[in-house]
Amino acid sequence: MWTAKEESMQRQPIVVAVACQRWAFAHPIRVGRLVPLKRFNRKRRSSARRDTAIVFDGDDTLWLTQRHYDETIQLFISFLSAQGFPRAITRQVFDRIDLANVSKHGFSRERFPRSMVETYRDLLKQRGGKYERAVAARVRMIGRDVFASLPELRPGVRTVLRDLRRGHMLVLLTAGDRLVQRAKIRRLGMARYFDRVVITPLKNAKVMRKVVDDLGIPPCCAMMVGNSLRSDILPAREAGLTAVQILARGWHYDRSVRSTGHLRIRNLQRVPEIARKVLGPNYVG
Ligand SMILES: [Mg+2]
Repeated sequence: MWTAKEESMQRQPIVVAVACQRWAFAHPIRVGRLVPLKRFNRKRRSSARRDTAIVFDGDDTLWLTQRHYDETIQLFISFLSAQGFPRAITRQVFDRIDLANVSKHGFSRERFPRSMVETYRDLLKQRGGKYERAVAARVRMIGRDVFASLPELRPGVRTVLRDLRRGHMLVLLTAGDRLVQRAKIRRLGMARYFDRVVITPLKNAKVMRKVVDDLGIPPCCAMMVGNSLRSDILPAREAGLTAVQILARGWHYDRSVRSTGHLRIRNLQRVPEIARKVLGPNYVG
């Protein structure tokens, strides 16, 4: 059931999408840091008309990672609390340092443990105390352990992707450390559902435009589904894609931005219904 607000938001994209149905499809070429999936791509022949696309984010859109980060941060805070550092101050300092480090180091694998060690150093500066290498090493190890956890898929992900792939090109566009993201995609068996898998250090409007350009369709024929306002929704809207936010547990990186006027959903199972309204009923088989 669509609310009046949702209907109003979708009216314009539907009109544009109808015009886009005649858009000529050019054969896709590789984009950015595409995960090499040659064998997979040779075997895959989608029955979709291939003039519309849905771009999915990975972390906390298709699979859940934030809970692992939150648990790791709590472990780190508890460890420093046992060393005499107040929990609330440690949290504040960590959030400040980690946010600044996103600008410096992006989503690299080293950023998260580095932010924890820098937090330890900062707390020592504020409160006095001797730097202990063993404590710093333990802190770094706590931070690195987050990458050992296998994320859990959202309920119904495979069914939703199988359904959507009958009518649209599907792209997985995920930001982060290449090795970490590749390992997650492989262990979760996600590559088989996508025409393209793109791993990028950071997502912005330029990256979104390139992904859609390389599919040979205009931005109005593509939809972005992601959890992050900063990484998914704002860049997608700037690039001219329809943006759908899937609500998920957030982190400090997203709390500093605001966006309105895009669809918000809690359940991934709503995506096929929204895709039909925004991109048209594109099924051919
Ligand atoms: Mg995400």
